[in-house]
Amino acid sequence: MDSNVRNAYLEALGIDRWVPRDAPPESAVVLPESARTNAPRARAPVADTPAPKLPVAPVVRAPVVAAGDWGALREQVAACTACELCKTRTQTVFGVGNTRADWLVIGEAPGAEEDRQGEPFVGRAGQLLNAMLLAIGLPRETVFIANILKCRPPGNRDPKPEEVSRCLPYLSAQIALLKPKIMLAVGRIAAQNLLATDAPLARLRGKLHHFGEANTPLVITYHPAYLLRTPSDKRKAWEDLKFARATYARAAGTN
Ligand code: SF4
Repeated sequence: MDSNVRNAYLEALGIDRWVPRDAPPESAVVLPESARTNAPRARAPVADTPAPKLPVAPVVRAPVVAAGDWGALREQVAACTACELCKTRTQTVFGVGNTRADWLVIGEAPGAEEDRQGEPFVGRAGQLLNAMLLAIGLPRETVFIANILKCRPPGNRDPKPEEVSRCLPYLSAQIALLKPKIMLAVGRIAAQNLLATDAPLARLRGKLHHFGEANTPLVITYHPAYLLRTPSDKRKAWEDLKFARATYARAAGTN
């Protein structure tokens, strides 16, 4: 990526560029300490912290996802009435992007604008997400973006456990079809549900997780809507993005 373009997006992120006199070449990335240690597997407690209390998911009947291709899966989601959110949605928000992407970005649930447009991460938060991705050389159209929930919770409240339980099979099917080389979870809700933990986001970011049977690398960062409210944390988000970029380079064998 052209360094001028990258710098423009770093500016959008509010990240000042600081280059020490003895800095390594631009392509070199210094990993956080956690990235250099053995990574914990998804659903396993962090080694040096007490085991997190897992949320107790109620027994619910999740939809049987039989879709073997993107079109059939999209149709199944569009017709879904497996939880109460089907009554208040304008439309389902399936996900968007390159169905051959190496990167899967996972958010929480559609907001009002996403519900209207049928696409995840639009509006100001979406623009910031685009800037965050571009800062690590990823135009939005080169990744796939999906949410934990495909329908908007009224008033943008947090998803209920039974809604997550019923909707997760769709995300699992998307992951099975996409086979991403890396997953980037943005925000507490996405991170906690993917890792089946109630640990705070501060304890989940900054370390490498893995997801599912494929052991897909999973990196956690802040939700762009949170960063719009708390710009002082943009620098930490930038560290997460650099960590994700380096993790991907290793996973893809380009490092
Ligand atoms: S949120 Fe998910 S499970 Fe609930 S109705 Fe929408 S698509 Fe179906």
